[in-house]
Amino acid sequence: MADENRRAETIAAANGIGTDTAFGAVTPPLYLSTTYTFAEFEKARAYDYARLGNPTRDQLADTLAKLEGGARAVVVSSGMAALDLALSPLRPGDLLVAPHDCYGGTHRLLSMRAARGHYRVAFVDQTDEAALAAALAEGARVVLTETPSNPLMRITDVRRVAALAKAAGALFVVDNTFLSPALQRPLALGADLVVHSTTKFINGHSDVIGGAVVAADAALGDELAAWANTVGVTGSPFDAYLTLRGVRTLFPRIERQSRNAAAVAAFLDAHPAVARVYYPGLSSHPGHAVAKAQQSGFGAMLSAEIAGGREAVRRLVGALQVFSLAESLGGIESLIAHPVTMTHAAMDPEARERAGVGDGLVRLSVGLEAEEDLLADLARALDAVAAG
Ligand SMILES: *Cc1c(COP(=O)(O)O)cnc(C)c1O
Repeated sequence: MADENRRAETIAAANGIGTDTAFGAVTPPLYLSTTYTFAEFEKARAYDYARLGNPTRDQLADTLAKLEGGARAVVVSSGMAALDLALSPLRPGDLLVAPHDCYGGTHRLLSMRAARGHYRVAFVDQTDEAALAAALAEGARVVLTETPSNPLMRITDVRRVAALAKAAGALFVVDNTFLSPALQRPLALGADLVVHSTTKFINGHSDVIGGAVVAADAALGDELAAWANTVGVTGSPFDAYLTLRGVRTLFPRIERQSRNAAAVAAFLDAHPAVARVYYPGLSSHPGHAVAKAQQSGFGAMLSAEIAGGREAVRRLVGALQVFSLAESLGGIESLIAHPVTMTHAAMDPEARERAGVGDGLVRLSVGLEAEEDLLADLARALDAVAAG
């Protein structure tokens, strides 16, 4: 079957399988060498130095580009490096429009770049179309969107923002970390660049820090690849190997984890100790219809407001046994995080308040464990909260 006709599940599972010409290895080999011999004087081979290019990293990049439907992917050392790379076209004085409730590390990166004069940034609630239009009218050069947002799972209409960004002449970048290309393909919805923390669902096993940028346009992709080499943020071959191994199971993992998350969301939604649940799969979620239209699943992330604030959260996480108290997300294990004291601690309290991240909020990354065990764990821990 011609490569270009393969379905995404086949690309994830089998891109590059059985292509080794040296020994016929079924699994593509891991190339660790930092340097390559020249074929002869003045004649380099396909690879010469591993910061610039590496076959294992290129195999992962090729797989991610195909999964996102882009022309080229650049694999870098972390999600933060991927964001910084995607925003590298910005010049001093240029305006970046970013989500007011973005990932905490992203908020810190953009704020510190802006404080150093590298560009200007406006943090905007992108579900508020009037606010977004007003920011774009100031002459935005880049619009960055994160949907679903972290940690409140706000849904931004990607097609709508793409149209507004295009009309304003701005480059449109989408952080697709929370869903992965298995559930959302922003380039097909009008984005110019997709950014990933491959640390999360794409690797999926909580053992690699990595990132990627996928460009719809080959020339922009080439420019970003050259910049990644210039500043030295390209990803390590070993990390690429592990991430490629992770991506093989992306589809079945995220499908099963999403099913577990939907069950957890429904359970928490009905529980008296839980004030509010933020999960796009619930019909009560304000972004439910848009999520249904632009995603092919609701994902494995959700947040919940525990009645009783920080003290109740302390008792809850102390009683949980299947869910581990930890940052990060997207792995095969279930995690619970408290954004105020963990992922969003770096954000200034006022900005956090504006983003709606309160003391009782917990974020859950739902894993591959049996649904019964996840629900029993939460039921028992919530009883402990009620008991005081
Ligand atoms: C984790 C994360 C990042 C940062 O990625 P790292 O791999 O930790 O550098 C960026 N955006 C989102 C949405 C994330 O969840």
